Amino acid sequence: MAHWDVPLTTEESEFNQVFAKYGGIYITGTNTKQLIETCLEIGVSVITSLNQQTHRDIPVIFNVIKDTTISAKSTLINGKFFIGVNIGAILGIFSLFYRMLSHPEILPHYGNVKAEQYDEKIYDAKTGDLRTIMDYSEEPIFPRCDIRRALAETLFFSFLRMTILHEYAHISKGHLAFKEKYFMFKNAETVKLVNPNDENIILQGFEIDADAFAIYGLFSHLTHLLENKGKLGELTICYTNNQNAIFLTCFAISCSFRIFGNFDWDIDNLSEKKNPPAHVRLYAALVFINNYIKEKSMVPENEVREIFFHANNEAEIAFSKISLQIPSFEHDTKALDPGTMEHYGNIYHKFLEIESLLKKTEPY
Ligand SMILES: [Zn+2]
Repeated sequence: MAHWDVPLTTEESEFNQVFAKYGGIYITGTNTKQLIETCLEIGVSVITSLNQQTHRDIPVIFNVIKDTTISAKSTLINGKFFIGVNIGAILGIFSLFYRMLSHPEILPHYGNVKAEQYDEKIYDAKTGDLRTIMDYSEEPIFPRCDIRRALAETLFFSFLRMTILHEYAHISKGHLAFKEKYFMFKNAETVKLVNPNDENIILQGFEIDADAFAIYGLFSHLTHLLENKGKLGELTICYTNNQNAIFLTCFAISCSFRIFGNFDWDIDNLSEKKNPPAHVRLYAALVFINNYIKEKSMVPENEVREIFFHANNEAEIAFSKISLQIPSFEHDTKALDPGTMEHYGNIYHKFLEIESLLKKTEPY
């Protein structure tokens, strides 16, 4: 790990160079060391097991970028892939979940809420920059109840896992290579195959495809945990049945969409954006979760939608309790709006059209 008193390894130096314009590699100090160490361990284990499952040996260098904005990046340089999670995303989201679980009215059915008393609001929980969140609190805020603290950490690691899986999908499914070939370095030959005017809709398709991969990976991990409850430790008390387990995973997913997505969308001009509108992602997530749960018969099919939107509303409440955001309870209506579904359909069909070309750009 990049630590202030240890020289960088070769991989760390490469990573540092690749993300130089964003501040390079994050050098940990003593107070962040343990958290960053765990994040790196999770990142490496996620990537290694994905490479094993897909029988690929994609060289992926994973580390933390010294950038305080709440974001993650993946890039392809000379045949090597780099995944970086910004330190802003790590510390910001970690503190966000700590703040949430410190609040007695957020996820009140888990652990002992009587121990919690935090009710300070931060200005904007959806802020794009860690510095804004950190400015609001001098004292570190953390849940007093051990179970709630462990739950906050689990939610954070679900978020991290989802982010890494999402970025890995951009690599392994050939999105990055396709983007380079057909949009960045387009020529007469490639333009015949892919219309550059379709760039936005194709890029939106890649995001949805990466979300599908991430959600599937997150739920596979959950299934693994439920089959090996010993690994849950003190959290067994939270993951009492499949419904609870799905609810908490959906809660982490809903929080990610609030952090990375913009819910203030308007239904017009959907094709002018490079990222799919948050409600389209929400709808797509429901489709993927439903498919997974159906395949594994985790809960009766008619319960999935209810659990999903319940988690989504709880995330909305959580954000409004710790920040000055006014909650909106129309996300389910918007996610199931015919306009959302139609746009999802358009993305999907365009994706099918280019899928064979995409396969050709997959690494190995
Ligand atoms: Zn993405």
